[in-house]
Amino acid sequence: MQIAIDGPASAGKSTIAKIIAAKLNYVYTDTGAMYRAATWLARQNKIDYSDADGIAKLIKQFPISFRVESDKQHVLVAGHDISEDIRQPQISKNVSQVAALASVRDLLVQQQRQIAQENDVVMDGRDIGTTVLPDAQVKIFLVASVQERAHRRYLENKTRGIETSLSTIEDEIAARDYKDSHRQISPLKKASDAIEVDTTKLEINQVVEEILKIIHN
Ligand code: C5P
Repeated sequence: MQIAIDGPASAGKSTIAKIIAAKLNYVYTDTGAMYRAATWLARQNKIDYSDADGIAKLIKQFPISFRVESDKQHVLVAGHDISEDIRQPQISKNVSQVAALASVRDLLVQQQRQIAQENDVVMDGRDIGTTVLPDAQVKIFLVASVQERAHRRYLENKTRGIETSLSTIEDEIAARDYKDSHRQISPLKKASDAIEVDTTKLEINQVVEEILKIIHN
C-alpha cells in the first residue's frame, strides 16, 4: 500500500505522515529530508547549488539513507547522522534551488520508488502523488495558511534552539513555495485525484483522524 502526502512547506506533512505510518505500521519516508541532505552535501563540499552534475556525483558517492532509532527517524549521509544539520536555515533557504535540478531529482526519485516497492509506505513531499507514486492508493494534499505554517515553523525552530523572527520565516516559506510550485520539473501541485485537507484550524489528532477515515474508506 502506498500513501502519498504532498503539500507546501510546513503544512504539517511530516508530523501527520509519521503518526499515520506508526499507526499502520508502515515505513515513513520524508522525501524533503533527502533534498535537504543533497543540499547539505553541496554545502559541505563547497559545490555550487546550481551544479547539477557535481551534486549528483556527491549523492552517488555518499548515499542518503534513513534509520529509525527509539521511534525517531534519522537521516544519514554515508553513515553520518545529519538529522539536525539539515534543518538549519542555510539549508532551508537553498534547498529549493537544489531540488529543481533534474539529475538530482532523477536519483532521489529512483531511490524513493525503490523504498515504495519494497515496503508499505507513507511518503511525504511535493510530487509524490503526481510523479513519484502516481498509482498510490491514497493521495492527500495538506494545506494551511502561510501565517499558520510560519507560526508552526517558528515553534519548531525554537525547540531546536534556532532563533528566527516570525516574519523572516513567513518570507522564507512563501519564497520556497513559489520556487517549488514554479519549477519546470515536478512542481508542487495537487494531483487531480488527491484529497485536499486544510489543517489551518485543526489539531494534529483531528487531521490524523480525517486522513485515517480517508484511508479506510
Ligand atoms: O518537506 P521539506 O520542507 O523538508 O522539503 C524541503 C524542500 O525539498 C522543499 O522546499 C522542496 O524544494 C524540496 N522537495 C521536493 N520534492 C519533494 C520533497 C521536497 O522538491 N518530494
